[in-house]
Amino acid sequence: MESLKQRILKDGRILDGNILKVDSFINHQIDPRLAFDIGREFYNRFAGVRIDKILTIETSGIAFALCAGYHFNVPVVFAKKHSGINMSSDVYQSKVHSYTKQTDYTISVSEQFLSSGENLLIIDDFLANGQAVLGLINIASQAKCKVSGVGIVIEKDFQPGSKILRSLGIRVESLAVIESLKNNKIIFREALKK
Ligand code: 5GP
Repeated sequence: MESLKQRILKDGRILDGNILKVDSFINHQIDPRLAFDIGREFYNRFAGVRIDKILTIETSGIAFALCAGYHFNVPVVFAKKHSGINMSSDVYQSKVHSYTKQTDYTISVSEQFLSSGENLLIIDDFLANGQAVLGLINIASQAKCKVSGVGIVIEKDFQPGSKILRSLGIRVESLAVIESLKNNKIIFREALKK
């Protein structure tokens, strides 16, 4: 997605540990136009695929899942990282290792929001080692739902997440694929079109 790649080049910053900081348009401040374009692009890429619900993970996946959900006209469910008092006790849970924070946390989804046999599209902001998405896939399988695909805003191709997901036979559509962040330079798998 050219506009996304251009924005990453313009406003993305590289941090230690192969982290791309995109706080000014994705992770902290959000650009609504770009977010809606991203939602439409997910809709176009998964056109013709049966999607009953979108599943994402708080916090950064929600905006993009919502924009996609608008086009698919389906509900958006997000896994919670903190189970508060407003959450029912009947939950599906999975443990996730956080790449950016280097800690483990538990994600939860109320059983009432996922029904057996539903076709899910999983959406997240980044794909690195695949742990967040694997946690969501685990929850989908507990709920006896089918994962029809995974939509990622930014994939870091040099980390194993996409290979792991594809080896499980899951279709992954990433809107910007980064091949390298070495030498403080952002290199995409497919170069920007001139
Ligand atoms: P994974 O579970 O695939 O290892 O990592 C995915 C999660 O870690 C994403 O939900 C995202 O929040 C975070 N993440 C991984 N790599 C990056 C990165 O380079 N930049 C940012 N901003 N977040 C990242």
